[in-house]
Amino acid sequence: MNTPAPPSKTRASESASPAGPGSAPAGSPPPDADGPAERIEVREFENLYQMAVAQFQRAADMTELRPSLRRILSEPKNEIIVNFPARRDNGEMELFRGYRIQHNNILGCYKGGLRFSPLVSLDEVKALAAWMTWKCSLADLPFGGAKGGIQIDPNAYSKAELERITRRFTHALGNNIGPDYDIPAPDMGTNAQTMVWMMDTYMNTVAYAQKNVVRHVVTGKSVAAGGSLGREEATGRGTVYNIASWAVERGMDLAHATFSVQGFGNVGSWAARILQNEYGGRMLAAQDHTGSIYNAQGIDADELARHVEAHKGVKGYPKADAIDPEDFWRTKVDILIPAALEWQITEENAPHIQARLVAEGANGPTTVRAERLLLDRGIDLIPDILCNSGGVIVSFFEWTQNKRGETWYLDEVRHKLKRRIADSYDRTTQAMNRYNCTRREGAMIVALNRVAGAYEERGIFP
Ligand code: NAD
Repeated sequence: MNTPAPPSKTRASESASPAGPGSAPAGSPPPDADGPAERIEVREFENLYQMAVAQFQRAADMTELRPSLRRILSEPKNEIIVNFPARRDNGEMELFRGYRIQHNNILGCYKGGLRFSPLVSLDEVKALAAWMTWKCSLADLPFGGAKGGIQIDPNAYSKAELERITRRFTHALGNNIGPDYDIPAPDMGTNAQTMVWMMDTYMNTVAYAQKNVVRHVVTGKSVAAGGSLGREEATGRGTVYNIASWAVERGMDLAHATFSVQGFGNVGSWAARILQNEYGGRMLAAQDHTGSIYNAQGIDADELARHVEAHKGVKGYPKADAIDPEDFWRTKVDILIPAALEWQITEENAPHIQARLVAEGANGPTTVRAERLLLDRGIDLIPDILCNSGGVIVSFFEWTQNKRGETWYLDEVRHKLKRRIADSYDRTTQAMNRYNCTRREGAMIVALNRVAGAYEERGIFP
């Protein structure tokens, strides 16, 4: 099983049919892969995948990408959908639908997270998979892009049920994942425990002698199960390293900076703790699915993380006031870090945001029109494929350590991460200057040029 077989349950992207249910709502076709993209500043999209394709088309226009490559890169290579049963604690069987979208692998193995959320849909996973292709390319990693998801609310299931769901999903995916083929990692609603269940299930389906050479089938594992030091904090840390690069560029001292965070899970809570403890920043507001809180004197990020761990959300944190969700966006801060869901910064709240920088810890948190409103008001933005790339960078470190049978020291991991983030940030800035474009467009151009270069040199088989 360690040798990847052709994916078994796929819908080939070469198909002339539309990409999938919901991907092309009536009256609102996806951007034409051949034609010039409409200016994305003036369009809004009905689903996340349309927005991801339009961002790609914009970079393709600016780099004058060949039409054939536009077509190839506008669709995922494989769309895998599995329906599988798992047993509930009460003995009943429930049927689940799981997705694994493999967008592109010209640069290396498919790589991308696995999301458990009630909002998971085919279009959402397709968009997230495409962004992984661009994120891995921008970070100069030997990986392509993929993403997976199951449409469940993880809070509605017991730990034992989540284990059975994860193991059945892994088994249903079969050879569609593999340590040198497609490598999942944690994302929203999943964590190191989920990855360890996946790894263990996969290990138990390969030949006995292969067991110990396939643990890199997933990354983001616990350290005890073969994960890397520094992986859990990596996305938040990478977000902060990006903010630090931006602050140097602006001559701003982060020791006096204030910030707010939407989403106090893995990405948001680590970004907040690192920005506070290592750079001296002060968090004034936080929001998650349970509520929004504010304290003008500052909210201690470590204490809030302990509260969230104990109470499953920021609600009820005793050293801050509860505020309306809309007021969270109005809070005057230097840096706003959206680290929860997509499409949170919209035309409605963007005019009220009083920050100097939006640092996208989450994937796709800003709508196209909202981004234009922010930029027009002089608010800078570090885009997701750059800002939250720390997670996949340290996943690459974990994968490399597993393949070599090594364990790296924490300071080594952090140092390598910092250097890669600084490189990606600089290359993005160079592209912005060369093309006179936004930071998101600059990042996309760097990413696209590397992928397109690989296609140009390799050609297409046969
Ligand atoms: P998580 O599950 O650990 O945390 C998600 C957070 O979002 C929680 O605090 C939750 O309360 C909050 N949230 C959910 N619904 C909300 C709502 N309606 N309003 C406000 N807050 C809400 O997830 P995570 O791993 O921290 O991922 C967050 C984002 O970062 C996602 O967009 C994910 O794709 C992206 N990301 C994660 C990683 C990673 O390594 N985990 C890497 C790159 C990008």
